[in-house]
Amino acid sequence: MKCPFCGFLEDKVVDSRESKEAESIRRRRECLKCGKRFTTYERIDEIPYMVVKKDGRREKFDRQKVLNGLLRACEKRPVPISKLEQIVNEAESFVIESPERERKTSEVGELIMSRLRRYDKVAYVRFASVYLDFKDVQEFMSELKDLVKTKEPETKPAKAAPKESRSTQ
Ligand SMILES: [Zn+2]
Repeated sequence: MKCPFCGFLEDKVVDSRESKEAESIRRRRECLKCGKRFTTYERIDEIPYMVVKKDGRREKFDRQKVLNGLLRACEKRPVPISKLEQIVNEAESFVIESPERERKTSEVGELIMSRLRRYDKVAYVRFASVYLDFKDVQEFMSELKDLVKTKEPETKPAKAAPKESRSTQ
């Protein structure tokens, strides 16, 4: 903590106590350079981080809500929960890093979609269909077309050849 008298950056805490309601901690500090004492208060950051919906409504960013959406999209899909947690963490960091303490839901959704797409295309499509809703059906259709185009050609020979020939791979 920068000394308010001389600007020195190192100090020692000489006294530390909680407020009556335990909402803050008051610390008495002594500058290691000039020896003067000053006080700091430590409080829990209680201002929420918000997401802004299309219509301008704001709501608190909710990790659990994001995770629930991902779990729904990944139902019966081979995506480990650790990957989903990682996506939630990334989404949360993205919101917290905002200097305005808020992000558009569209930006958060796009970030989540781009991550999910890497892990599982079916889960990605499920998430996108919920997230993009029917107003963006055109966009959704073009997304689907892209997915079909990028689909690996591995299914083609399997259809033409009988099952036994799989062992030759
Ligand atoms: Zn000082």
